[in-house]
Amino acid sequence: MIDAALYRRLFGELAAIGREPGGWNRMAWGPGEDAARDWFRATAAALGLEIVQDPAANLWAIEPGAGEGPFDAVGSHVDSVADGGAYDGALGVVCGLVAVEAARRAGGAPRPLAVGAMVDEEGPRFGAAIFGSRALTGELDIDGVLARSDPDGNVLRDLAAGRGVTAATLRAAPAFLPRVGSWIEVHVEQGRALADVPAPLGVATALAARERWRCTLRGASDHAGTAAMAGRRDALIPAARAVLAAHDLASAEPGAVATVGRIAALPGSTNQVPGEARLSLDVRAPAQAALERVRDGVQAAAHADGVEAEWSLETADPGCVFDAGLRAALHEAARAEGLAAADLAAYAGHDAGVLARHLPAAMLFVRNPTGISHNPAETASEEDCLAACAVLARTLLRPR
Ligand SMILES: [Zn+2]
Repeated sequence: MIDAALYRRLFGELAAIGREPGGWNRMAWGPGEDAARDWFRATAAALGLEIVQDPAANLWAIEPGAGEGPFDAVGSHVDSVADGGAYDGALGVVCGLVAVEAARRAGGAPRPLAVGAMVDEEGPRFGAAIFGSRALTGELDIDGVLARSDPDGNVLRDLAAGRGVTAATLRAAPAFLPRVGSWIEVHVEQGRALADVPAPLGVATALAARERWRCTLRGASDHAGTAAMAGRRDALIPAARAVLAAHDLASAEPGAVATVGRIAALPGSTNQVPGEARLSLDVRAPAQAALERVRDGVQAAAHADGVEAEWSLETADPGCVFDAGLRAALHEAARAEGLAAADLAAYAGHDAGVLARHLPAAMLFVRNPTGISHNPAETASEEDCLAACAVLARTLLRPR
């Protein structure tokens, strides 16, 4: 049922956009994502689909004659991180186009079909990840996000206006949401669980709750030689305790992960006691309660006499549980295709995770033998990607 040659051609075409020696560069709100969006429009039109840009700049390729009623959508995003891989986002869009083409050829889908390409999913440029789905669902802090600038001084408000997106259109975007009847996102696996099962496909059970914190620790700088150990107010000591607590507490909490990825000691010289330390904390766990146990423990551990700790929350996302009906349908379709599919929790942000709070949504992961993502080393075999297309098409055609 799946046209393998079509898959190969479309994946090759999209992978040719933004390809540079260090990896794939299709940064949102710039020429890379623009070129990929142009490709999506032209490709979907050639497949006989009608292109609609919603008020948040997400692109929808919809079956002609769908009317204003809800459609069953599949898709992902076409932007990338800097020097990213070929599969993140792109695979979901290509599998979506190929699966919808196959389902339309087979005929009998109970609802109109559509492929979505969500805007600015990755978010490194303006720190506004999952922009398109958050705007669509009314979860976006519109004025705050539009005022942000990138490291080159470009303001998002100006770049968005170039695509016809303003504060007013963003406020109107949730009116489009009822048209999205369901959403299934195929995505390259961002870990290495499926290779060990082994299974070519994974059905996401839930998307982890996530928090990012910034911490400033203030002690007092002093002479590394003349200041006695007793009485020092070394700000790096509680920072070190936080790093170890993050590792130990997350290791003890099933499914939890915690990372201090950024740390600085100030003034930062060999012969001075650090008077100030700054660190980041990223905590993720399958349930909010587990996240809070790890986070509270790390914050309590980041303590030393004479050092004051100030924690500020950068981002928080409660995560989601994916739709039970769609998950069962994906498993059933995999069984019918003779394919193994494992249950898998997701730990990174995805449009599906935002949409799942508002409508039936699910994710289908494709085995990534390297386990690496956001890197040119991320990969998936063509056989596994075609398996995902087949499961997706069968799921769209299921009787309801
Ligand atoms: Zn992605």
